[in-house]
Amino acid sequence: MALSNKILACNWKMNLKIQEATELARFVSQKADKCNASVWIAPSFTLLPHVAKILENSRVNYGAQNVHWDTCGAYTGEISPSMLKEIGCSFSIVGHSERRQIFGESNDIIIKRALGSLKHGLSVILCVGETLQEFENNETVKVVSFQVKSFLNELANASIELESFSDSKVKSIIIAYEPVWAIGTGKVATNENIASVHTTIHSIIQKYSFPFTVPVLYGGSVNENNARSILDLEVVDGALIGGASIDSRKIGMILDQFS
Ligand code: PEP
Repeated sequence: MALSNKILACNWKMNLKIQEATELARFVSQKADKCNASVWIAPSFTLLPHVAKILENSRVNYGAQNVHWDTCGAYTGEISPSMLKEIGCSFSIVGHSERRQIFGESNDIIIKRALGSLKHGLSVILCVGETLQEFENNETVKVVSFQVKSFLNELANASIELESFSDSKVKSIIIAYEPVWAIGTGKVATNENIASVHTTIHSIIQKYSFPFTVPVLYGGSVNENNARSILDLEVVDGALIGGASIDSRKIGMILDQFS
């Protein structure tokens, strides 16, 4: 993918107060205007309406960090795709390793979230990745392939109008490869490792012959110093950025590299 079409997705996690978030959203939006990449922001739920006001006429997409599959009902603590759409969200992240590891979300639940979100017209960033132990046991390909294939199998069988996903700028199905051991740790996978896992994921995706492309992002300690060399890799379609995305200096420097 050409550098100009790369996706920079910012996962703000459980951070920022309203004023900090609106200032950061304004800053990112101004930078994004001069930037060739497609910029996405995922603030916490309470920040979303505030960020939405700042971003309503901007090039930046905003979305949530998780989503339920149903429109409403007795699901305490959850949020529905239609609630997110009502405030202008265009996507949700699902299956982040913090959801899988800390909150025990199973692969099955994550697939339900992803498909529910797509059925209601929200784009999805599905996170996959191996733990440190799995990495050390050389199980990366096995683990990541299982996570990707189990989702794509269900997607292929789901009653979703896949044709409506052909415009990847509006409705996209995105996979983010995030080695768990690289998230928030400062440890980054080597470019060789990243390229090899991304190539595997792309070759799995190709077998499904979907009528749209499925971009594959890398996430895990991406910062202002390593972003460019990772995103220069042909098989890397963008980045999912956590810590560096809530620091205006760092995210500003990353966005500047795409202007
Ligand atoms: C993430 O939260 O998806 C992430 C990649 O975090 P960090 O960039 O802080 O490692």
